[in-house]
Amino acid sequence: MTAKKKPSARAARREAERAAVKLARDRERLAALEAGGAPERPIDLASASEVEITARSMPCPRCGGEVRVDEHLAETIGAQRLRIAKVFCPGCGARRSIYFRLGGLLPN
Ligand SMILES: [Zn+2]
Repeated sequence: MTAKKKPSARAARREAERAAVKLARDRERLAALEAGGAPERPIDLASASEVEITARSMPCPRCGGEVRVDEHLAETIGAQRLRIAKVFCPGCGARRSIYFRLGGLLPN
């Protein structure tokens, strides 16, 4: 009895919005799997002075915008001494942590 309605423009827009949200989530998940996205996958740096520069050079995974570094922390996770850059994207409000390991490039 229920006649199938043609999708309205509004429904189509909602659909597109849902797809965009899903895409953004997928991108964030992907970024977490890349180098620097998790404590198990830190980016090797020669010195602490490169942490913020490198973090800033990595665009927001959600919108591709420029991020700023809110905090730069030193933490020991397991046996590793890591630096963590907490970045914030003013464009879309996304926050994430990028992990670095220092001294990987130093000669013994
Ligand atoms: Zn963003």
